[in-house]
Amino acid sequence: MMEDCVFCKIRKGELTSSKLYEDDDFMIIKDINPQAKIHLIAIPHMHVPYIDMMTEEGALLLGKIMSKISHMQEELGITEGYRLIINQGENAGQTVGHVHIHILGGEKLDEI
Ligand code: AMP
Ligand code: ZN
Repeated sequence: MMEDCVFCKIRKGELTSSKLYEDDDFMIIKDINPQAKIHLIAIPHMHVPYIDMMTEEGALLLGKIMSKISHMQEELGITEGYRLIINQGENAGQTVGHVHIHILGGEKLDEI
């Protein structure tokens, strides 16, 4: 449910967050439980619970967001490289049912 969604609540200002960027398509916030020196989350405004439910329109939006991230490396502090992750479902450890892209960087990351 959108009403119960943590990321939609952040978007509406009902929950506080460290918001670094927002435009008409998405926002970038700091993850509250960082898994790397820099751990940000890019969150489309569009509420889609799982990446496996994504429409072609939504996929195009995610591509646009990835392109924007690539042009924001300086301000995000990830010019030395970064990793983008989308978790899908239980085995991947997805905890928030609103598709989002993790941005990890700011240090040498473990190889995967
Ligand atoms: P996932 O496990 O892929 O669903 O990612 C959800 C992420 O959201 C986790 O890394 C959480 O630490 C992060 N998170 C949950 N609630 C908040 C919040 N209120 N502000 C910032 N990050 C959050
Ligand atoms: Zn949502």
